[in-house]
Amino acid sequence: MTDLGLIVMDEVEEEVLEEMQMALEDNFPVEVRRVSQVTMAGNEYDAKRGQHSAPLVLQRVLNLGDRKAEKLLAVTTRDLFIPMLSFVYGQAQLSGRAAVVSTARLSQQFYGLPANGVLLRARARKEVVHETGHLYGLVHCADTRCAMSLSTNVRQIDLKNDSLCAACRAQVWEGHI
Ligand SMILES: [Zn+2]
Ligand SMILES: [Zn+2]
Repeated sequence: MTDLGLIVMDEVEEEVLEEMQMALEDNFPVEVRRVSQVTMAGNEYDAKRGQHSAPLVLQRVLNLGDRKAEKLLAVTTRDLFIPMLSFVYGQAQLSGRAAVVSTARLSQQFYGLPANGVLLRARARKEVVHETGHLYGLVHCADTRCAMSLSTNVRQIDLKNDSLCAACRAQVWEGHI
C-alpha cells in the first residue's frame, strides 16, 4: 500500500474530503492519511489573473508536505491556472509525487447556478482519481467514461465515471495484487 498524504490547503468541506478519500481508496492501492496543513504563501497568487498558479502550489506542497508520505495530494478551493491554459481543475507530476485538485470550478455556484452538494462531491471524486492517476503514470484515456479521460468543462466531467477503466486500472494495480 502506498502512503498518500491528503493536504487540505483551505476550507474544503468535510463531506467533500471524505468522498475524495473513498474514491482514492476505491481506485488505487493507497492508504489515505490527512497530513499537516500547507497553506498558500502568497506568491502562488497572480493578481492580474485572479487565480493561483498550479505549478507554484505543487512546489510548495513538495517543499512543505509531510516528508514520509510517498505521494501528496493537495486540495484547494482556489481557482488554479497554468501559464498556457486559462484554468485547470488540477495538476499532477506524471509518475511523480505531488498533485493538486481545485474544487473552485466543480461547484454549480461558480456558474451562477444553485448549490448542488451531490454533484459537487461526484465531480470531486472524479478529479482526485484523475490527478492521482497521473501520479501513477497514467496518461489521458480515450475511453470517455474513464476517470482518466480529459475534461475541459464540467459537462465532460459529469459524463465520466469516478473510476478507472479496466485498462487503466490494470496498469495501476500491476504488481500490487
Ligand atoms: Zn489529466
Ligand atoms: Zn482508462
